[in-house]
This record gives sequence, C-alpha cells and structure tokens, in this order.
Amino acid sequence: MQNLGEPHAGASQFTDIGTTLPPQHFDAIIIGAGLGGLLSAAHLLQRGLRVAIVERLPHSGGRFTAKNFHGVQVSTGAVHMVPFGSSGVLAHMLHRLHIPHHFFDADVFGSFHVHGKQFRARGLLSVYKFLGAHQFFWLVYIGYLIFLRPLPPYEQQLPFSLWLERHIDVKRNPQLVAFFERIARFALSLDLPQVSTAEVARITKHMLRFGAPAIVQGGCGKLTNELESHVCAQGGKLLLSHEVLRILSHDGAVTGVRLRNKADNEEFELHAPLVVSDVGPRATVALLQNRTVTQSNVLKQQVDHADIHEAVGLKVHILSDISLIPHRGIMYCLDTQRIAGMVQPTNSDPSLAPPGKHLLISHQVIQSNNIEEERALALADLHLLFGEAFDKHCRVLTMGMYRGEWPVNRIVQGEDRLPQTPLRGLYQVGDAVKPSGYLMVEGVAQSVNLFLELLETLDHTSQQSNTDIQPRHYVMPAPSRLNALRWLWKAPGNAGKR
Ligand SMILES: Cc1cc2nc3c(=O)[nH]c(=O)nc-3n(C[C@H](O)[C@H](O)[C@H](O)COP(=O)(O)OP(=O)(O)OC[C@H]3O[C@@H](n4cnc5c(N)ncnc54)[C@H](O)[C@@H]3O)c2cc1C
Repeated sequence: MQNLGEPHAGASQFTDIGTTLPPQHFDAIIIGAGLGGLLSAAHLLQRGLRVAIVERLPHSGGRFTAKNFHGVQVSTGAVHMVPFGSSGVLAHMLHRLHIPHHFFDADVFGSFHVHGKQFRARGLLSVYKFLGAHQFFWLVYIGYLIFLRPLPPYEQQLPFSLWLERHIDVKRNPQLVAFFERIARFALSLDLPQVSTAEVARITKHMLRFGAPAIVQGGCGKLTNELESHVCAQGGKLLLSHEVLRILSHDGAVTGVRLRNKADNEEFELHAPLVVSDVGPRATVALLQNRTVTQSNVLKQQVDHADIHEAVGLKVHILSDISLIPHRGIMYCLDTQRIAGMVQPTNSDPSLAPPGKHLLISHQVIQSNNIEEERALALADLHLLFGEAFDKHCRVLTMGMYRGEWPVNRIVQGEDRLPQTPLRGLYQVGDAVKPSGYLMVEGVAQSVNLFLELLETLDHTSQQSNTDIQPRHYVMPAPSRLNALRWLWKAPGNAGKR
C-alpha cells in the first residue's frame, strides 16, 4: 500500500483571497458526500463532533445512489448490490449507526450462462452441472491450493492468470478459466492479469466466509437518503452544490478547506483541525495543490499520477416485460464477448421498477478505447443471452461508461492507499482506501473503520497518562473459515426475511 505524496509547497499557506463570508469553524470537515463521506460523518457526529460535509453535486451518495427515470431506480454507479450482504461490513456498520435498512441476500451461489443456456447453481457444488467432471476436479484442486495450504510467497504476487497457467492446463479447462475471469470482471472490474493471486485468495475467502451478496431494499438511493437524513438529524451541516477548491494547511497540519458555492460562485472558507477526503488520492493531491482534476484531464492522462490505476466499466440498465433471471443472485456470463455478469434486482425489490416490469443491469470491463465498439459488443451479448426475447420484451434505458473521475474503483483492488496522509489531521476514506480482500462498498465501509481506528489510537495516545481504557477496535475481521462450508450446497443468506 502506498501513501499520498508530499503536499505541494503551496499547500501550506493560509490564504484568504476575495473572501466575503466569515470563515466558519467545525471539528471536522468531510470532502465529498459519497458513501464513505456520509459514513464517516455519521461516526464523527456519534462522537459528538461538529461536522460539515461538502458535496459538489446537488445530491449526496456519489456512485452509490440512484435517480428515478420513468419509475425505474437507475443507479449512479453500484448495481444496487452489496457484496457481503446482510452479514457484511457495511451491514454491521449500518446496525452500529442505527440506520434503517434491509438487504435481500442472494438465494443462489449464482447462475452461469454457458453453452448457450443458463445453469442455476444453488451452492458451489452445483457448478459441476456446467463444468463437468474433468473441470470440476481442477476446481477442487484450486480450492485446495488456495484454502487448505498457505500460499507460498513467490506465488502471492503472481498475476492470477499466470498462477492458473502454472497449476492447470488452461486450454483443457476453458469454462473453469472463464468462471474465474467473469467473477473478477463483474466483482472487481478487472481482468485476471491485473489482480494478484494473494488478492484473489483473500477476496474469495471473504466472499465465502461473510455470506451471499444482497440487493438493497429500495436500491442504493434509499440507503443514501437514510444516511443523509441521519447525518442531518444528528446536526451535521451538509453543503450540497458546494465544491472544495483547496485544502488549507499551516505548519504541516490541516486547517480547513476553501470552497465555492456553485449557485452564486461565492468562495469562502471552513476551518477545522480534521479534514476527511472521500474524493480519492488523485483529487486530494490536486486540492492540496490548489488544482481541480477534471474528467477530461484524467482521460487524457495529463496528470502526474501514472501510478494510479482505476478500474473501468460499462453498465447497461434494461427494462423488461418478462423475467429473464430466475433468482436473486448474479448471473455470470461465460460465453459472452464483453458482459461479465447481470442482476435482476426487481426479483428482490419489485419497487425498483414500475409494476409488472423487471429491471436488469449488466456490467462489463471496458477493454478498448473504442467506446462505440464496446457498446455494440454489449448489445450483441444481450442478443446472445436472451435471443428474440431481448428484441420483443426489453428496452435499453441507459448505457454508461465508468472511467476517469467516475470509475468503478478509484484505485484497482490490491493497490489501495492508506487513510493517513503526510499532513496532520488530513485522512482519506472511500474506495481508494479499501483494505485488501474487501471489495466495493464493503471496502468503503472498512476504509471508514480504518480511519476511525486511527483516530481512536491518536486520542488514546494523547490521553494515555489519564486512562487505562484501550482504544476501541472498529476494523471488522473475516468470520470463521467454517462459514465457507455453508456455500457447498446452498448460498447462505437471510432468504429475504424482513
Ligand atoms: C458501474 C459501477 C458499478 C458498481 N457496482 C457496485 C455494486 O454493485 N456493489 C458495490 O458494493 N459497489 C459497486 N460499485 C462501487 C461503489 O459504487 C463505490 O465503491 C462507492 O460508491 C464509492 O463510494 P465513495 O464514497 O468512495 O466515492 P464516491 O461515491 O465517488 O463519492 C465521492 C463524492 O465526492 C464528491 N466530490 C468530488 N470532488 C469534490 C470536491 N472537490 N468538492 C466536493 N465534493 C467532491 C463527488 O461528487 C462524490 O459525490 C460500482 C461502481 C460503479 C461505477
């Protein structure tokens, strides 16, 4: 894991250019009201701090919210799905904060579209149906190598594609390779050569130990609204349509932010000894240098951060008259050119689409700069998957690219940054700070846990002479490895209980 670079020399000044409003003082300022920002704000408010949250968009939630489009909950990022479901890190955090929510855990391990049809696998053993005896044997062997023996150090950093080549005959196991490839593309938006064997091992262990993925009741927009209401009810000051222009500092410590009200272009300052950035390392460094990162300059790679690799993807929202996926889990697509997986979240919560309609969401990794071709391949895959039913019953609502400043992950899984920065009082949370093995919003929630644990340790160190109380632990460890056994026959989950 790497840390932020040294702040630019210009960052350590305390300027007041053209300020017409008096500076306002808080205990903590959060930059960005994405899931990471809102969760951090809720925890800091729980500790009794005065908190301001600054969001440049007119709404909170970032890549984890949705807009109502003709009665359909069209998400700004996430496919309304939480990777570790009702037993995961996010679920625990929401319970801890008393945020109302319900997650519908998947009722299957998944289904697999292969050989032109869909095979439903209730548990892991059911993948035998489409793998056959030969490839299933090699899957069990891989399971043994990953789970039942320590991964030798020289294997840990190998790209997973290379590791597979060394242990199985990839030519004779095409569906088995596709099985791993499509899960990595759907869950991480990465290809197998981009992810290390150690990371695959950790993620797989966590996925199996925590539980089934889940669809959020009401969609990710509902959850974000609950969080936003909670933060405001606890006295948090939420400044929507306000953009942070600069992080202010003095003598190596953060002092606040300079921001612009987008409604009237007014600039002013907020001051606090603690600033939490939810905007990712690239934008955080830019704010220290009084620069703004735009979508176009990330796409043109004109920034001096060649070391930052984001995960990119293309997502399609489809409205259908008929149900095309018969379960609450993920359909992995092994015989497609691009689409890695799909979900039909209305199987869990029909209110995500108008009555009688079904919402389907597909996801794929963008594999070239030819965007038109990527879209055309997505459509070709949808025809391959559903045949005539697609033309007859389905309507494509949106087809969105996720890259640049709005990627699937700001830092690819396994290369994440630390929450602390060289500037005292400045911390990072969000999907660029996910600890190893914790993916997507589980990683966002765990990044907030890391940050809280750091604060707790700092508080404890400064008060050590007065108290024997140990700092509280927030970071959630993976449950027992025996939990993984539950997956063999049937996906573990809450079976939609309310
Ligand atoms: C296509 C796609 C599918 C996904 N699917 C899933 C899924 O099914 N399940 C899952 O768990 N995860 C999924 N994810 C990932 C998940 O959406 C993200 O991990 C999560 O939403 C990131 O939250 P965050 O708080 O780290 O960042 P963000 O949501 O990006 O929040 C950052 C916020 O900061 C604001 N901001 C930026 N700059 C400034 C500034 N200068 N001043 C003020 N505000 C600023 C932004 O507007 C934004 O609201 C998906 C992502 C994408 C794109």
